[in-house]
Amino acid sequence: MKNSTEWSPRGIGEQILRTASRGPNGAAGIYGRSVAGAALRWFAMGRSGRRVLLTAAHHANEWITAPLLMRFAGELAAGTWPGALDDTRVWFAPLVNPDGVNLVTGQLTSGSLYENAQSIAAQFPQVPFPDGWKANIRGVDLNLQYPAGWEEAKKIKYAAGWDRPAPRDYVGSAPLCAPESRALYRLTKRVSPDLVIALHTQGRVIYWRYLDLEPPGAQACGEALAAASGYTLEDTPYASGYAGYKDWFVLEYDRPGYTVECGEGENPLPYSDFDSIYPDVRALLAQAVLGC
Ligand SMILES: [Zn+2]
Repeated sequence: MKNSTEWSPRGIGEQILRTASRGPNGAAGIYGRSVAGAALRWFAMGRSGRRVLLTAAHHANEWITAPLLMRFAGELAAGTWPGALDDTRVWFAPLVNPDGVNLVTGQLTSGSLYENAQSIAAQFPQVPFPDGWKANIRGVDLNLQYPAGWEEAKKIKYAAGWDRPAPRDYVGSAPLCAPESRALYRLTKRVSPDLVIALHTQGRVIYWRYLDLEPPGAQACGEALAAASGYTLEDTPYASGYAGYKDWFVLEYDRPGYTVECGEGENPLPYSDFDSIYPDVRALLAQAVLGC
């Protein structure tokens, strides 16, 4: 078992309030509820002007991205980059999939939602349970839920055998049917960001395009993010090239959106990897906030 109990979503609400209250013009709130009723929390800091939205933990067994993003937010709030928030406002949605993260980190081990997840997992014995779980607690992959080539994603994933609720890669019965994805979609519409980044693990890669769409400035910004972090800027592979959050954002807004695969290894990356992953992610996020 590579599960870690060194970090869990339990304290994140308090951590969010503390972080937001330290940052200039800090604000925090709830943008929706998960399947299990957990609060989906956002917070923001900085003055008006350029708008950046940073998200983490769409995927349950990529939960280490949530503490990575929170560490960065704490540093940003503390004024580590002077002037960074003078004409930029940064929004955070650090835990897109709280129920799935509870499952993978061993915080959810009983009850009807757990038992349902267990019986879904039993149909896919090739995926370790709960370590291989990426989906929300109902078996919908939250990063295959967005209205950007969803039918295409469905075709690809169904053909690969992910044609019903599953630990990963099931697109759901319709776009935005999962409350967690629908809530983030609405939050994004409310914020209308100039730039979004979705943190995932793993591979040390930055994905930037949707199909052949290249928003103005997206390549140059992607190259700057790559230079800052040492990660590689790449095109999204065909099999995962649809219905993701950044896909929808690029299609909807024609503005730069990135999926960043943090760290290296097998998911879930153990919490002991945190210190070795953070410096590159920190540099990448700072670059995104300071302007590409
Ligand atoms: Zn992912």
